[in-house]
Amino acid sequence: MEDIRVKGVRGLPLIHAGDDIAELVCKKVKFSDGDILVIASTIWSKAHGYTKKLSDITASERAVRLGLMNGEDPRFVQAVLDASSDIILEHPFILSEMSFGHIGVRAGVDQSNIEDGMVIFLPPDPMKAADELRNDVKRIAKKDVGTIITDTCGRSFRRGQTGNAIGWSGFTAIRDFRGDRDLFGHVLKITEEAVVDEIAGFANFVMGESDNGVPAVVFRNCGRWTGHDDIYFSKDEDITKRVLKKERL
Ligand code: GDP
Ligand code: MN
Ligand code: MN
Repeated sequence: MEDIRVKGVRGLPLIHAGDDIAELVCKKVKFSDGDILVIASTIWSKAHGYTKKLSDITASERAVRLGLMNGEDPRFVQAVLDASSDIILEHPFILSEMSFGHIGVRAGVDQSNIEDGMVIFLPPDPMKAADELRNDVKRIAKKDVGTIITDTCGRSFRRGQTGNAIGWSGFTAIRDFRGDRDLFGHVLKITEEAVVDEIAGFANFVMGESDNGVPAVVFRNCGRWTGHDDIYFSKDEDITKRVLKKERL
């Protein structure tokens, strides 16, 4: 078995609406079957035009109120509200759920790595985006490459942001160890490893956050696993969300 190899894709241009990410990456990378291509959601959204000028946004009453409360531009707050399907926390920052199931601070709306006065939204359907990216790479490079779309996210209980997978294609999100035996023969009862987030986390480390200019990372020799895609808790299971929403447990 060969060791895992990880490579940041350097030399990609600034991405604009209409750019073909698969085409640009395939010019820089010689893919093999089984590779995993990880891209930052930021470049997917810029390429697909999921950006907005703040000056084109009109703030609602709620956005003005939350903007005052949290010390943020009400137009930015409006962008966050528009991207959210459910607001879990209004203060000291907006924590919201998106229609595809992800929960994130400020709905993942970014003002970095784009021109002044612009916001970047997360892809509205990142699973579909990951599928399409995978198909595009297959068409161009003729290789079966898995894909992951990431965003840098904060987390509960610990300081510091890490990369999370918001879309993936070509493998399951979770490697299910339930039913396997440990070194002492005990049957594992609860271990479901969130493999896509682990890969996203390391990809995020290679990408960096500021002006590194590395929005894509390729993994080789990650092997195969079986499991499932139910990475988001159901309404009943999500204890943290229920507590934040002050529901009775
Ligand atoms: P996010 O984690 O998806 O919100 O994306 P970030 O803004 O943190 O960017 C991740 C990486 O991609 C960083 O290394 C950025 O410098 C880089 N990046 C962002 N946009 C572009 C772009 O348009 N072109 C290139 N070459 N790199 C970019
Ligand atoms: Mn982001
Ligand atoms: Mn980032």
